[in-house]
Amino acid sequence: MKVVCAYCGSQAALVTGEVIYPHRADLREKRFYLCAPCGAYVGCHKGTLNPLGRLADVVLRAAKVRAHAAFDPMWQGGARRRGDAYGWLADQLGIKKKDCHIGMFDVAMCNKVVLLCQRTPIEAREAA
Ligand SMILES: [Zn+2]
Repeated sequence: MKVVCAYCGSQAALVTGEVIYPHRADLREKRFYLCAPCGAYVGCHKGTLNPLGRLADVVLRAAKVRAHAAFDPMWQGGARRRGDAYGWLADQLGIKKKDCHIGMFDVAMCNKVVLLCQRTPIEAREAA
């Protein structure tokens, strides 16, 4: 599969976890796409060579962590199903649910997710 880096346009190389996380023996078998010029990378869906999303540099990786931290409690507590939570998020963002994957978001979208989740009380989300 050809994976192109959105930052510099280079073609990313398929590498093992050993390259990305040299100290994590548990990730050694995993596959990643790595852009050598800018150090952006993305993991693959389990057991496949399909990238989980776009290649992420350190700024985008941090933004995705923040987005997940803000959004995941919406469904992890069992208040609603994961699919319903993503449906709500897609509505709020004005995108289709099938396109609503934090792994595919850019920094601006990740920041939007954080703001949306912060200003929406849990009860309101459950009733929505
Ligand atoms: Zn690059």
